[in-house]
Amino acid sequence: MTKAMDNNFVDENCIFCQISNNLTNNSQLLYEDNNLVIINDIKPAVDQHYLVLPKKHITNIKNMKKEESIQIINNMKTIGENFMKSKGFTDESQLRMGYHWPPFNSISHIHLHLLYPIRQMSWISRVIFKTGSFWFVEINDLIQWLSKR
Ligand SMILES: [Zn+2]
Ligand SMILES: [Zn+2]
Repeated sequence: MTKAMDNNFVDENCIFCQISNNLTNNSQLLYEDNNLVIINDIKPAVDQHYLVLPKKHITNIKNMKKEESIQIINNMKTIGENFMKSKGFTDESQLRMGYHWPPFNSISHIHLHLLYPIRQMSWISRVIFKTGSFWFVEINDLIQWLSKR
């Protein structure tokens, strides 16, 4: 198990750093590799609501080098999609994968929301996870945005 801590990219005060690097007693990792983990969202908006987190403390992808940011987001997307497939998602139109733009992210450590099925969302969740809004961006739109930068 590789810990991002090895290369000084962990912020000890950040809850997502603590969880993704197993620094808390109650980390429930549903998936883990050298760079990413997947956890349950603590306030699920639908039956299946997960977060993909990099182990590295990245507060804002806008501050990263273009190539690196695209690589990280693409990797989060692939791992997230495979995870949702393993959980049995069958209807692609019911899957939403996206990212909260700063300053609308409640925690300053980038994370990808995985939601399924979106028809279960309440009206408030539909607002929070609204694609194309200035607070939430769908993963493919984000990749496109990053590559045009
Ligand atoms: Zn962090
Ligand atoms: Zn979020």
